[in-house]
Amino acid sequence: MHTHTSGKRSGGHSYSNGNTRVRKFRSGPRRGGSSGAGKRSGFVGRRSGGGNRFGGRKKSTLDISSFINKAVVATETVAHFVPDNSFNDFNIDKQIKATLVARGYEHPTPIQDKAIPHVLRGEDVVGLANTGTGKTAAFLIPIINKILHDKKQQVIILAPTRELAIQIEDELKLFASKLGMHSVVCVGGMRIGAQIQKLRNYNHFIIGTPGRTIDLIKRGNLKLSNVKTVVLDEADRMLDMGFINDIRYILREIPKERQTLCFSATLAPEIKRLINDFLIEPVTISVKTQDTPTSIEQDIVKVEGRDKTVLLAELLQQNDFKKVLVFGRTKHGVGKLSQELNRKGLKTESIHGNKSHSQRQSALKRFKENRIIALVATDVAARGLDITDITHVINFDIPETYDDYIHRIGRTGRGSHKGKAITFVG
Ligand code: AMP
Repeated sequence: MHTHTSGKRSGGHSYSNGNTRVRKFRSGPRRGGSSGAGKRSGFVGRRSGGGNRFGGRKKSTLDISSFINKAVVATETVAHFVPDNSFNDFNIDKQIKATLVARGYEHPTPIQDKAIPHVLRGEDVVGLANTGTGKTAAFLIPIINKILHDKKQQVIILAPTRELAIQIEDELKLFASKLGMHSVVCVGGMRIGAQIQKLRNYNHFIIGTPGRTIDLIKRGNLKLSNVKTVVLDEADRMLDMGFINDIRYILREIPKERQTLCFSATLAPEIKRLINDFLIEPVTISVKTQDTPTSIEQDIVKVEGRDKTVLLAELLQQNDFKKVLVFGRTKHGVGKLSQELNRKGLKTESIHGNKSHSQRQSALKRFKENRIIALVATDVAARGLDITDITHVINFDIPETYDDYIHRIGRTGRGSHKGKAITFVG
């Protein structure tokens, strides 16, 4: 069950939910453990002036008060989203509808409700949506329907990380495997030979990270002349990761007669330019309800010179810390932290850029299957992860930007689950 707030048409070619949220901060005692909760006073860092919190710029000094939000309950009413459409209303093939039923997708999420009709009409779409909103199915459902009607055309989906690319293919397969559609994932960190081999066959869907995709284009293994649909997923993340020129290169390689969809959580100026340059009269749909979902309780732990690893170990021993994602800043630090926790008898794994693809996949699998209590990760390695039942996110190291903070804590409190985010400060 999703509890998104209802979207209203805000005029022109644009939707917005018009939902403003008043953030309430309250300091208070942390539940259990030996470490006391922080008070706001004395912990408020500098805020960059004006604009959207941190103006989208990289800032290392964050306002610690934005890591606390315990006033989640009672007074706040979260309106239940009432979709305009049911899946049955959409003009899509009955086999797709059957998969939706089999998957237990009862109603469209807001992004699906608003975006699917436009994508079905062949329009370009800008979707402003965070992960966890159902945006993958929002583009996959209408595109699969399009390919069903013309199997000669191809789709390219660009995503920031190999994990996200693989997740998209997994979701695609659920819908498309019975429909005779083929896909290939073109991502770095995996053997290029196997991808080249797969590219020799006809693939309806090419899902890739920009770097490897360009590599394959330049080697002559990937031809884009049949591509009629392009999806840029998590465009802002791709921008953060320095892929913007690669994306522009790839888009220039694709025939102009096409449909282009761009999904992003934010509209950074560079993303706006990209949209202006490559999309044609796009419909903009925003389902961003608020910066931080009400399903996530946020608090801080004041370190006050104590050993952070010991504090973390104490937390992990508490009963309710069942499935914990811990964020560290550096690859080295993340690996070391996981080893130290393991030495203390706590089963953990780490994922970061220096680990091989198979090591990362195996750590993720063990985490998903509850065979370890915590996964220690860097921001980049954890991007786009979709694990529904993470109970806690712990910021062992403070994130570099507020945007990173939002992205980190959004790994918990997904769907109808409640989650807690704890940030070590001071
Ligand atoms: P996404 O934002 O695409 O990462 O999707 C987040 C999660 O929501 C995934 O686990 C999807 O399987 C799930 N999901 C997507 N659409 C629906 C829906 N209409 N009803 C229920 N769950 C959904």
